[in-house]
Amino acid sequence: MTDCLFCKIINKEIPSEIIYEDQAVLCFKDINPVAPVHLLIIPKKHLRDLNSAEQADQSLLGRILLIMPKLAVEVGIAQSGYRVVANNGPDAGQIVEHLHFHLIGGQMSADFA
Ligand code: AMP
Ligand code: ZN
Repeated sequence: MTDCLFCKIINKEIPSEIIYEDQAVLCFKDINPVAPVHLLIIPKKHLRDLNSAEQADQSLLGRILLIMPKLAVEVGIAQSGYRVVANNGPDAGQIVEHLHFHLIGGQMSADFA
């Protein structure tokens, strides 16, 4: 999608600190971290949010869920713990309308994101 911030990050039109990339998924550091570790994991396919996901996206979404714990190991928060947050729509405070999962950790907190 041409007018989407995260699609521009995927296309390297906007710089980001990439942690992981494969043919279907990108992970980069959140520009405004709420904790010592704050990553965003996104499908390269433009989906606005979870409401936009269809049956055909099953393996893509499963892939993301399985990548996140591996990333948690890589950045050293697998044992200490982390949160996974996906904001969907206005009441959730979703700002960027490209499905993304926040991976947040590195400190004890009950009121992240
Ligand atoms: P949400 O409220 O779930 O839509 O969160 C969007 C997230 O994207 C926020 O945590 C922002 O800090 C983050 N963000 C916005 N622009 C960028 C960017 N250029 N690079 C990395 N993260 C970004
Ligand atoms: Zn997009």
